[in-house]
Amino acid sequence: MVYLVEDFFSIQGEGRHVGVPSVFLRFGGCNLRCPGFGSYEIDEEIVAGCDTLRAVDKKRFRKIWQPVERATDLIAIVERYLEPLDYRPHVVLTGGEPMLYHDDPAFYGLVGWLVREGFEVTIETNATIAPDFDRYRWYEGVTFAMAVKLSNSGEPMGKRVKMAAIMALATRGKDSFFKFTLDPFATTNAGEIREIVEGFANEIYCMPLGDDVAQLQKNALLVAEFCLEHGYRYSDRLHVRLWNREEKR
Ligand code: SF4
Repeated sequence: MVYLVEDFFSIQGEGRHVGVPSVFLRFGGCNLRCPGFGSYEIDEEIVAGCDTLRAVDKKRFRKIWQPVERATDLIAIVERYLEPLDYRPHVVLTGGEPMLYHDDPAFYGLVGWLVREGFEVTIETNATIAPDFDRYRWYEGVTFAMAVKLSNSGEPMGKRVKMAAIMALATRGKDSFFKFTLDPFATTNAGEIREIVEGFANEIYCMPLGDDVAQLQKNALLVAEFCLEHGYRYSDRLHVRLWNREEKR
Protein backbone atom coordinates (compact mmCIF):
# COMPACT_ATOMS: atom_id res chain seq x y z
CA MET A 1 0.00 0.00 0.00
CA VAL A 2 1.15 3.52 -0.77
CA TYR A 3 0.02 6.89 0.49
CA LEU A 4 -0.86 9.36 -2.22
CA VAL A 5 -0.92 12.95 -1.01
CA GLU A 6 -1.92 14.74 -4.19
CA ASP A 7 -2.02 14.47 -7.95
CA PHE A 8 -2.09 17.32 -10.41
CA PHE A 9 -1.27 18.41 -13.93
CA SER A 10 1.15 21.29 -14.33
CA ILE A 11 4.46 22.20 -15.85
CA GLN A 12 7.67 20.86 -14.40
CA GLY A 13 9.26 23.77 -12.56
CA GLU A 14 12.70 22.39 -11.70
CA GLY A 15 15.70 20.61 -13.14
CA ARG A 16 16.23 19.32 -16.65
CA HIS A 17 12.58 19.25 -17.69
CA VAL A 18 11.59 22.79 -16.73
CA GLY A 19 8.51 23.83 -18.69
CA VAL A 20 7.46 20.31 -19.71
CA PRO A 21 3.73 19.55 -19.18
CA SER A 22 3.64 16.82 -16.56
CA VAL A 23 1.25 14.74 -14.50
CA PHE A 24 2.50 14.70 -10.92
CA LEU A 25 1.75 12.04 -8.32
CA ARG A 26 3.02 13.02 -4.91
CA PHE A 27 3.55 10.19 -2.44
CA GLY A 28 3.57 10.59 1.33
CA GLY A 29 6.47 9.71 3.59
CA CYS A 30 10.15 10.49 3.69
CA ASN A 31 13.19 9.01 5.40
CA LEU A 32 14.57 12.53 5.95
CA ARG A 33 13.09 15.60 7.58
CA CYS A 34 15.39 18.42 6.40
CA PRO A 35 14.86 20.78 9.35
CA GLY A 36 17.27 23.26 7.78
CA PHE A 37 14.86 24.05 4.93
CA GLY A 38 12.98 26.86 6.60
CA SER A 39 10.06 27.13 8.96
CA TYR A 40 6.36 27.63 8.46
CA GLU A 41 3.44 28.74 10.53
CA ILE A 42 0.81 26.01 10.50
CA ASP A 43 -2.22 26.26 12.77
CA GLU A 44 -0.45 28.98 14.78
CA GLU A 45 2.56 26.71 15.32
CA ILE A 46 6.03 27.23 13.86
CA VAL A 47 7.12 24.04 12.12
CA ALA A 48 10.60 23.46 10.71
CA GLY A 49 11.07 21.25 7.73
CA CYS A 50 10.90 20.75 4.03
CA ASP A 51 8.87 22.70 1.50
CA THR A 52 6.50 19.77 0.96
CA LEU A 53 5.77 19.21 4.61
CA ARG A 54 2.32 17.92 3.67
CA ALA A 55 4.04 14.92 2.07
CA VAL A 56 6.25 14.24 5.08
CA ASP A 57 4.19 14.96 8.17
CA LYS A 58 1.46 12.33 8.19
CA LYS A 59 0.16 13.24 11.62
CA ARG A 60 -0.47 16.87 10.74
CA PHE A 61 -1.76 16.25 7.21
CA ARG A 62 -3.57 12.96 7.84
CA LYS A 63 -6.66 14.11 5.95
CA ILE A 64 -4.90 14.31 2.59
CA TRP A 65 -2.89 11.06 2.91
CA GLN A 66 -4.93 8.70 0.81
CA PRO A 67 -4.06 4.98 1.09
CA VAL A 68 -3.94 3.26 -2.31
CA GLU A 69 -3.57 -0.50 -2.52
CA ARG A 70 -3.74 -1.25 -6.22
CA ALA A 71 -1.67 -0.15 -9.18
CA THR A 72 -4.86 0.05 -11.25
CA ASP A 73 -6.11 2.85 -9.01
CA LEU A 74 -2.91 4.85 -9.57
CA ILE A 75 -3.07 4.15 -13.31
CA ALA A 76 -6.68 5.38 -13.39
CA ILE A 77 -5.54 8.70 -11.90
CA VAL A 78 -2.97 9.15 -14.68
CA GLU A 79 -5.52 8.15 -17.33
CA ARG A 80 -7.95 10.76 -16.06
CA TYR A 81 -5.44 13.48 -16.93
CA LEU A 82 -4.85 12.01 -20.39
CA GLU A 83 -8.48 12.12 -21.47
CA PRO A 84 -8.67 15.76 -22.65
CA LEU A 85 -5.14 15.75 -24.11
CA ASP A 86 -4.05 14.84 -27.61
CA TYR A 87 -0.44 14.34 -26.50
CA ARG A 88 1.41 12.40 -23.83
CA PRO A 89 2.60 14.45 -20.90
CA HIS A 90 5.62 13.56 -18.86
CA VAL A 91 4.82 11.70 -15.62
CA VAL A 92 6.60 12.70 -12.42
CA LEU A 93 6.53 10.56 -9.29
CA THR A 94 7.53 12.72 -6.38
CA GLY A 95 7.15 13.10 -2.64
CA GLY A 96 8.15 13.02 0.11
CA GLU A 97 10.43 10.22 -0.91
CA PRO A 98 8.67 8.03 -3.49
CA MET A 99 11.42 5.39 -3.45
CA LEU A 100 10.23 4.37 0.01
CA TYR A 101 7.67 2.44 -2.04
CA HIS A 102 10.04 1.04 -4.64
CA ASP A 103 9.01 -2.57 -3.99
CA ASP A 104 5.38 -1.90 -3.21
CA PRO A 105 3.15 -3.72 -5.75
CA ALA A 106 0.96 -0.64 -6.33
CA PHE A 107 3.92 1.70 -6.89
CA TYR A 108 5.98 -0.74 -8.94
CA GLY A 109 2.88 -1.75 -10.89
CA LEU A 110 2.38 1.91 -11.84
CA VAL A 111 6.04 2.28 -12.84
CA GLY A 112 5.87 -0.85 -14.98
CA TRP A 113 2.70 0.29 -16.74
CA LEU A 114 4.12 3.77 -17.43
CA VAL A 115 7.32 2.39 -18.91
CA ARG A 116 5.52 -0.23 -20.99
CA GLU A 117 3.14 2.42 -22.33
CA GLY A 118 6.09 4.55 -23.40
CA PHE A 119 5.72 7.49 -21.01
CA GLU A 120 8.68 9.63 -20.09
CA VAL A 121 8.85 8.98 -16.34
CA THR A 122 10.90 10.88 -13.80
CA ILE A 123 11.19 9.85 -10.18
CA GLU A 124 12.23 12.76 -7.98
CA THR A 125 14.23 11.25 -5.15
CA ASN A 126 16.67 12.22 -2.44
CA ALA A 127 18.79 9.35 -3.83
CA THR A 128 19.21 7.51 -0.54
CA ILE A 129 17.21 4.46 -1.66
CA ALA A 130 17.83 2.40 -4.78
CA PRO A 131 15.80 -0.57 -5.95
CA ASP A 132 17.23 -3.97 -6.81
CA PHE A 133 17.42 -3.26 -10.55
CA ASP A 134 17.89 -6.95 -11.38
CA ARG A 135 14.63 -7.82 -9.69
CA TYR A 136 12.63 -4.68 -10.53
CA ARG A 137 13.61 -4.19 -14.16
CA TRP A 138 11.09 -1.48 -15.05
CA TYR A 139 13.19 1.03 -13.13
CA GLU A 140 15.65 0.77 -16.00
CA GLY A 141 13.11 2.79 -18.00
CA VAL A 142 12.98 5.65 -15.51
CA THR A 143 14.90 8.93 -15.25
CA PHE A 144 16.00 9.70 -11.70
CA ALA A 145 16.20 13.33 -10.57
CA MET A 146 18.68 12.85 -7.74
CA ALA A 147 18.11 15.66 -5.26
CA VAL A 148 20.92 14.71 -2.89
CA LYS A 149 20.74 16.89 0.19
CA LEU A 150 23.58 19.14 1.32
CA SER A 151 24.40 20.16 4.89
CA ASN A 152 22.00 23.13 4.61
CA SER A 153 19.19 20.55 4.88
CA GLY A 154 20.10 20.10 8.53
CA GLU A 155 20.44 16.34 8.07
CA PRO A 156 23.65 14.51 9.07
CA MET A 157 25.92 13.43 6.21
CA GLY A 158 25.54 9.72 6.96
CA LYS A 159 21.78 9.95 6.58
CA ARG A 160 21.51 12.19 3.51
CA VAL A 161 24.35 10.90 1.30
CA LYS A 162 24.26 7.21 0.35
CA MET A 163 26.87 6.71 -2.34
CA ALA A 164 25.83 3.12 -3.14
CA ALA A 165 22.28 4.26 -3.87
CA ILE A 166 23.50 7.20 -5.97
CA MET A 167 25.77 4.86 -7.93
CA ALA A 168 22.92 2.41 -8.60
CA LEU A 169 20.45 5.09 -9.69
CA ALA A 170 23.05 6.84 -11.85
CA THR A 171 24.23 3.71 -13.62
CA ARG A 172 21.13 1.51 -13.84
CA GLY A 173 18.32 3.99 -14.50
CA LYS A 174 17.45 5.08 -18.04
CA ASP A 175 18.93 8.46 -17.22
CA SER A 176 19.64 10.62 -14.21
CA PHE A 177 20.83 14.04 -13.14
CA PHE A 178 21.81 15.74 -9.91
CA LYS A 179 19.72 18.55 -8.48
CA PHE A 180 21.06 20.39 -5.44
CA THR A 181 19.18 22.96 -3.39
CA LEU A 182 21.59 25.70 -2.37
CA ASP A 183 21.61 28.17 0.43
CA PRO A 184 23.78 30.65 -1.48
CA PHE A 185 25.21 32.04 1.74
CA ALA A 186 26.65 28.66 2.80
CA THR A 187 30.38 28.56 2.15
CA THR A 188 30.53 24.77 1.96
CA ASN A 189 28.40 24.31 -1.21
CA ALA A 190 31.24 23.89 -3.70
CA GLY A 191 33.19 21.36 -1.63
CA GLU A 192 30.14 19.32 -0.71
CA ILE A 193 28.89 19.09 -4.29
CA ARG A 194 32.33 18.20 -5.60
CA GLU A 195 32.62 15.36 -3.10
CA ILE A 196 29.25 13.88 -4.11
CA VAL A 197 29.52 14.17 -7.89
CA GLU A 198 33.14 13.12 -8.25
CA GLY A 199 33.40 10.36 -10.85
CA PHE A 200 29.91 10.92 -12.28
CA ALA A 201 29.31 12.46 -15.70
CA ASN A 202 25.70 13.43 -14.97
CA GLU A 203 24.31 16.90 -15.50
CA ILE A 204 24.41 18.94 -12.30
CA TYR A 205 21.65 21.45 -11.55
CA CYS A 206 21.81 23.93 -8.69
CA MET A 207 18.62 25.48 -7.48
CA PRO A 208 18.11 28.30 -4.98
CA LEU A 209 16.39 27.68 -1.68
CA GLY A 210 13.05 29.41 -1.84
CA ASP A 211 9.49 28.23 -1.75
CA ASP A 212 8.03 31.70 -2.17
CA VAL A 213 8.78 34.38 -4.73
CA ALA A 214 10.50 36.74 -2.28
CA GLN A 215 12.92 34.11 -0.94
CA LEU A 216 13.56 32.75 -4.42
CA GLN A 217 14.33 36.21 -5.75
CA LYS A 218 16.73 36.86 -2.86
CA ASN A 219 18.74 33.69 -3.57
CA ALA A 220 18.46 33.23 -7.34
CA LEU A 221 21.14 35.61 -8.55
CA LEU A 222 23.75 34.30 -6.11
CA VAL A 223 23.08 30.71 -7.15
CA ALA A 224 23.29 31.70 -10.83
CA GLU A 225 26.68 33.28 -10.12
CA PHE A 226 27.75 30.11 -8.27
CA CYS A 227 26.79 28.07 -11.37
CA LEU A 228 28.82 30.36 -13.63
CA GLU A 229 31.84 30.00 -11.37
CA HIS A 230 31.69 26.20 -11.17
CA GLY A 231 30.21 25.18 -14.53
CA TYR A 232 26.93 23.82 -13.13
CA ARG A 233 23.48 24.37 -14.62
CA TYR A 234 21.16 26.84 -12.93
CA SER A 235 17.67 25.60 -12.21
CA ASP A 236 15.00 28.07 -11.28
CA ARG A 237 11.75 27.13 -9.58
CA LEU A 238 9.42 28.16 -12.36
CA HIS A 239 6.27 27.01 -10.56
CA VAL A 240 7.14 29.33 -7.66
CA ARG A 241 7.69 32.25 -10.07
CA LEU A 242 4.32 31.57 -11.70
CA TRP A 243 2.14 30.50 -8.80
CA ASN A 244 4.13 31.40 -5.67
CA ARG A 245 3.12 29.07 -2.79
CA GLU A 246 0.00 27.68 -4.41
CA GLU A 247 -0.19 23.93 -3.90
CA LYS A 248 -0.66 21.39 -6.71
CA ARG A 249 1.57 23.49 -8.99
S1 SF4 B 1 14.27 14.78 1.39
FE1 SF4 B 1 12.89 16.14 0.27
S2 SF4 B 1 10.81 15.46 0.84
FE2 SF4 B 1 12.25 14.54 2.32
S3 SF4 B 1 12.24 15.98 4.04
FE3 SF4 B 1 13.96 16.55 2.69
S4 SF4 B 1 13.13 18.12 1.30
FE4 SF4 B 1 11.39 17.07 2.27
